[in-house]
Amino acid sequence: MKTTNQPSYIRDGRAPIPQKDTTSKVMSLIRAKNTKPEMTLRKALFANGLSGYRLHWKKIPGKPDISYPGIKLAIFVHGCFWHRCPNCNPPFPKSHKRFWKQKFEKNVERDKRNSQDLEKQGWKVVTIWECEIKDDLQNCVDIIRIFKLKY
Ligand SMILES: [Zn+2]
Repeated sequence: MKTTNQPSYIRDGRAPIPQKDTTSKVMSLIRAKNTKPEMTLRKALFANGLSGYRLHWKKIPGKPDISYPGIKLAIFVHGCFWHRCPNCNPPFPKSHKRFWKQKFEKNVERDKRNSQDLEKQGWKVVTIWECEIKDDLQNCVDIIRIFKLKY
C-alpha cells in the first residue's frame, strides 16, 4: 500500500531510508535502550526475585543493559538484527548492502570490545539474544539465577 503521509516515528538520520515503510518503522523501534526484549527480561527477573540490578550503568564499559554490581555480572540484551545473532541469522537487508555490512561489523566489534573490557575488570558477561527471550524466557531467567547463586 502506498501512502503519502509522513511517518509518525522519528528517524535518526544515520541510516539510508529503507524502501518499505514497515522496515523503516521496525528499524527505528529496535535501536534504542529500554527495548521490548529488554523490558520483558527485566520484568521476568523482577518477578523471579532477581531484583537489585542496575540499568545502563555508566561506570562500567559498554553500559550493559542490566548489571548486578554485587556479583559483577553484566548482561547485554542484544537485538538479533543489529548485533547479528548467530542463533537465528536474521536476513541481511537487500539494499544498501555496503552500508549495512559496515554498520553490522562496527556493532559486532564494539560488542566484543565491551565484553573484553568488562572481563579485564573482573566482570562476567552474559549475552541474551532477543530470540532467546522470545523462545524461552524462563531459560534466560534461569541462566541469570545460576550466576546469582554461584557468586
Ligand atoms: Zn536471534
